[in-house]
Amino acid sequence: MARPPERPGFPARIDLGPRPALAKRPAPGVPPASAAARVPAPAALPGAARDPIPARARMVQALAASGIHDPEVLRAMGAVDRHRFVDHALVAQAYEDTALPIGLGQTISKPSVVARMVELLMQGVARGADGRPGRVLDIGTGCGYQALVLAQLASEVYSVERLRELHEKARANLRPLRVPNVHLIVGDGMQGFASGAPYAGIVSAAGGDKVPEAWIDQLAYGGRIVAPTVQAGGAQALVVIDKTRQAIRQTVLEGVHFVPLKSGVS
Ligand code: SAH
Repeated sequence: MARPPERPGFPARIDLGPRPALAKRPAPGVPPASAAARVPAPAALPGAARDPIPARARMVQALAASGIHDPEVLRAMGAVDRHRFVDHALVAQAYEDTALPIGLGQTISKPSVVARMVELLMQGVARGADGRPGRVLDIGTGCGYQALVLAQLASEVYSVERLRELHEKARANLRPLRVPNVHLIVGDGMQGFASGAPYAGIVSAAGGDKVPEAWIDQLAYGGRIVAPTVQAGGAQALVVIDKTRQAIRQTVLEGVHFVPLKSGVS
């Protein structure tokens, strides 16, 4: 029997897979027991009703129901084919709210975590005269999914990965999509990426003990960093850093579980 293609093209069999928990409909007459009942109807989300990938439209509805309010972020999440970034065996789970392995012990983050971080970034990012964020630095390219989500929102995305094999994987994932505003770099993201600085925003998918000084230096005034950071006690939390000419303000938010931020390239 012929082997299935590595990267299934549309329409793939995604919609046959298990559905996101939030998309379940309560039986008629049963009072709502969860957020499921508050999922807005597809028509409430621009474009969702026409999404050719129903599982993706349901994922966007679940994100909206779970507290992602920025319509631009929801649009970006609905515009990217997450199934193109996971291995063939995992395609059926591509639009579930789970982290999935991408090789070398790394994972593609849950859609809800990607959306949360991108929304936090967009709320505090420096914007140009056209109202759009300019250059954004994405630390930890992994398979390239989050870089492509960011590319829907910012004018340029610089994405750094320390593992060459994953960098190549991201390159292969993005190549057929011909995305002109994503720049993939192999490097130690702990140093940031000075050539693209200053950045309107910086977002990291890997968590260190503290936010590296290089990121703060390379952030534009009026810009924001969103990064998981290990707190006293050893657990990670999302940290937001806002930089103005007057001050660097840090806010610690909810607990998260990201892969560790490591130095060096391999
Ligand atoms: N945003 C990615 C998530 C990948 S997981 C996606 O959408 O798939 C986080 C990634 O951060 C891993 O690939 C890991 O190798 C990478 N990473 C960890 N430390 C890093 C560093 N110092 N510089 C660049 N990448 C790093």
